[in-house]
Amino acid sequence: MMEQLPPVVAIAVLGQEVTATRIGFDSTPEQRERFLPDLISGKRISCTGTTEPDVGSDSRRVRTRLEDDGPDHFRLSGRKMWITNASICDLINVTASYGHDASGRPSTTRIIVERDQSPYEAREIPVLGLRQGHLGEVLFESCRVPRQNQLGTAGDAARVLNLTWLANRPILGLCAVHMAQRALDAALQYAGDRRQFGRPIASFQLVQEMLADIATAVTTSRLLCYHALSSIDAGDRANHLSAMAKRYSLAACMRAVSLAMEVHGAMGISCEMGLEQLFRDVRMLPIPDGTNQILTLIEGRELTGIQAYRPSSGATSAA
Ligand SMILES: Cc1cc2nc3c(=O)[nH]c(=O)nc-3n(C[C@H](O)[C@H](O)[C@H](O)COP(=O)(O)OP(=O)(O)OC[C@H]3O[C@@H](n4cnc5c(N)ncnc54)[C@H](O)[C@@H]3O)c2cc1C
Repeated sequence: MMEQLPPVVAIAVLGQEVTATRIGFDSTPEQRERFLPDLISGKRISCTGTTEPDVGSDSRRVRTRLEDDGPDHFRLSGRKMWITNASICDLINVTASYGHDASGRPSTTRIIVERDQSPYEAREIPVLGLRQGHLGEVLFESCRVPRQNQLGTAGDAARVLNLTWLANRPILGLCAVHMAQRALDAALQYAGDRRQFGRPIASFQLVQEMLADIATAVTTSRLLCYHALSSIDAGDRANHLSAMAKRYSLAACMRAVSLAMEVHGAMGISCEMGLEQLFRDVRMLPIPDGTNQILTLIEGRELTGIQAYRPSSGATSAA
């Protein structure tokens, strides 16, 4: 389904679906009853806010702070950036710093902020691609949130994010496959129609090479993403495959879209063809749920058993 949906819709659905999954993890039956039916039916829109202006890949260091405020409430202060669905959502699953763990390090927790009872500011951020989407910024200024909205146990935020990033990665890969497949369809059509030197450009060997490369990217990316997802479904440790699927697909599909533009000559860069939009949209996807560099290091860690990005042992924020 995620491969077939227009990517901007798929990303919004993914933001909603993964937030529901995160709420479903380690929450009380009362919280599940209160939040999940409306999220699953789409009556309420949701998102997850982890990233901040100064905190990206190293998400365990979030600065948005949760503080006690009487017996029934917390106060939430901080800013979240680059949040999918931020400006249109009814509730946000916020990752915030709260208290300390056993070794004295700041601990992170998860809390649901409902816009109608805990108002906050949200605005959209103008970006390169996926412009029909709602990528935004959220500001919490001493926002009062009921204690009953805190999810799970204090300190479990990184574990829940890690678990849900696993499937998100190949799903984002499949959004890229959708775009590369559309680019391939357009390139095949154009190469058959366009004539130069008295022949269809599809008859030139170098054009055929570009078409073959695009088709190879689509098929290999699709298979790798399905393979990672079926490995997750089978309950295998899939950190390596999941990281590999997203990193590979995004690189292969970005190149495929670019090659399809090349097949079109100057028409490739025209707004009329729609390829320039695919080119901008696909460029958005290497960033969320693990950048290329973080995914490379996850693959490295899974292969060698050695953690390259964090001085101490333990899973990364982005793992
Ligand atoms: C389309 C889109 C949707 C998003 N949706 C959400 C959302 O719903 N919720 C949310 O919380 N966030 C969301 N984000 C934010 C996204 O998760 C972050 O942008 C991402 O985690 C990277 O953080 P950063 O941009 O701050 O980059 P940084 O972490 O600052 O990284 C900058 C550069 O340094 C590299 N780098 C960082 N650490 C290392 C290291 N240890 N080794 C090598 N290289 C390193 C990175 O790979 C990158 O190249 C979204 C982003 C986009 C583009």
